[in-house]
Amino acid sequence: MQSIHAIHPTLRPIVTLQELHDSIKDCQRCRLASGRTQVVFGTGNPHAKIMFVGEAPGFYEDKQGIPFVGAAGKLLDELLEGAGLSRNDVYIANVIKCRPPDNRDPMADEVETCKPFLLQQIELIKPKVVCTLGNFAMQTLLGKKVGIMKVRGQSFQVKDFFVFPMLHPAAALHQGNLNEPLREDFRKLKAFLDRQQEPVPPVEQMNLFG
Ligand code: SF4
Repeated sequence: MQSIHAIHPTLRPIVTLQELHDSIKDCQRCRLASGRTQVVFGTGNPHAKIMFVGEAPGFYEDKQGIPFVGAAGKLLDELLEGAGLSRNDVYIANVIKCRPPDNRDPMADEVETCKPFLLQQIELIKPKVVCTLGNFAMQTLLGKKVGIMKVRGQSFQVKDFFVFPMLHPAAALHQGNLNEPLREDFRKLKAFLDRQQEPVPPVEQMNLFG
């Protein structure tokens, strides 16, 4: 992964999430600054092994300064619980930290400008798995123009963590036919996490089948 200092060499080294948050809370680097109430940085366990990354703050997130607090957030909480997780176990952020007007899609230059902050969050938190919610976050972190339906529920190694693409809870709220596939994504995530917990077989045992 490209270091933020390679991208913004003038930034002073930042070693904690709080320092990063402080450094961007008045960010004016893109046009989204003019319409936001506040920068929505992220929330959760700063040492989380699992991160969830959505697209951008919506109306309620912009007002409260916390990602996923509206109806999609309630659904996310329910799905986390079903996977044996809670907000205290994970870290939740968005690719874009300020609300786009009328919840429009973020523009390419806004993503390029804001993405380094997400990359640095990942560098600081050092998760084992980054679950992307929706097409947008998946394409941003995988760097591929692939459709979410082709890759959802699978894991992709990116440097020293896995990207695990999932549908976005808001998509399931708007299109009822995506509700079950979203729940399936979380079942697959739980199975993936359970497999990660399994002890690696001793070398001798593996050789028996080699
Ligand atoms: S969206 Fe990102 S780059 Fe743009 S003003 Fe907000 S924090 Fe800065």
